[in-house]
Amino acid sequence: MYENNLDFAKKLDSQDKLAKHRGEFYFPTNDAGESLLYFTGNSLGLMPKRTQDAVQVELDAWKKYGVEAHFMGRNPWKDYHEYVTDSLAKLVGAKADEVVAMGTLTSNLNSLLVSFYRPNGKRNKIMIEGSAFPSDIYSVSSHIALHGLNPDNCLIKLYPKAGANKIETSDILQAIEDNKDTLAVVMLGAVNYYSGQYFDLKSITEKAHEVGAYAGFDLAHTIGNVKPELHDWDVDFAMWCTYKYLNSGPGATAGIFVHNKFAERFDIPRLAGWWGHDKTERFKMDSEFKPMRGAEGWQNSNPAILPLACLKASLSIFDEVGMDNLREKSLSLTGYLEFLLNDLKNSAIEIITPKEANERGCQISIRVKNANKELFNELTKKGVISDWREPDVVRVAPVPLYNSFEDVYRFVVILGSCLK
Ligand SMILES: *Cc1c(COP(=O)(O)O)cnc(C)c1O
Repeated sequence: MYENNLDFAKKLDSQDKLAKHRGEFYFPTNDAGESLLYFTGNSLGLMPKRTQDAVQVELDAWKKYGVEAHFMGRNPWKDYHEYVTDSLAKLVGAKADEVVAMGTLTSNLNSLLVSFYRPNGKRNKIMIEGSAFPSDIYSVSSHIALHGLNPDNCLIKLYPKAGANKIETSDILQAIEDNKDTLAVVMLGAVNYYSGQYFDLKSITEKAHEVGAYAGFDLAHTIGNVKPELHDWDVDFAMWCTYKYLNSGPGATAGIFVHNKFAERFDIPRLAGWWGHDKTERFKMDSEFKPMRGAEGWQNSNPAILPLACLKASLSIFDEVGMDNLREKSLSLTGYLEFLLNDLKNSAIEIITPKEANERGCQISIRVKNANKELFNELTKKGVISDWREPDVVRVAPVPLYNSFEDVYRFVVILGSCLK
């Protein structure tokens, strides 16, 4: 159904209902002012043009009102994080009281582990993918150590079977079963950052609950890429960053999900701060902490407004486009990339991302036999921004919001020429 030629790629672009959104983003350019081929929306999403104005509005509010901007101006800062709640909830399949924009990804993971990793006797293990993003491994290991336990004994790492690239769901479920008396928490990157595998969150959560463990997921590579149904799947907790597929700028405000079955479980220990305190009484400055119900009760600090302004601007695009439309284009865009890569018929490359569309998002990870970073440098020289993961993997993420079929076609032609 796909064809390997530029006219065909252009034809797909002309039929693409989302093509017009490309113009809403700034693409990096080379010294001659030509746009580069950008495939690293999984690392840092491009800047939406509307972001600049959104930030300027808040700078102007600060300039004009000073501290009073918490209560005045177009978007009073006191409630600013609430402006993005509904949009975030839609992206992860949550109810509004289950999500809040706050903090940064790893610190949110740390905060939620304080609440959800409560080792009790022999039930003291955490399960994670062996190829998890290092920050997540550091985090879960540090919690095990904080409880006086040894990560060597208490951290279970999942790996694909020898020779395979993906971790089969059945193997994950079996690993949970094998540790049924000792498992406290399953904490996976819902879409693995390296392989691009999208795990079966629903089955994993169900199985974790069956053995008496919590299920939490890092959505760094999930939010804005695929659409989980966190509430319906009964996921316990999750966290994400917003600078990848959500295009909210470097270090932008992250977020958390806590299932609303815990909304009023004030007995669950948590790290506290004034922004998690009952907002109707926050400014009474009472010294007794009264957490708000729902995810908001996990907030610590008053949020950074300028990054939230970036997030709010970016989410307005997602609201306009809708995740279902994005996913539909994503399937065909990434499918095209896969088709073209296979059509290179080059035995030096192997796609390590699952072939099954429901087991991946937009990213394709390409393992290149006997490659070193020279290949990546060569791609960069030819105008491609992709990313290199040691020892031999190039990750490319055609992002349905702003990448075109022509981008994908041009990339594969360049890759082919670099492999010669
Ligand atoms: C990008 C990413 C991080 C980065 O963490 P920060 O706290 O935002 O620096 C952590 N974990 C995963 C899985 C990621 O993909």
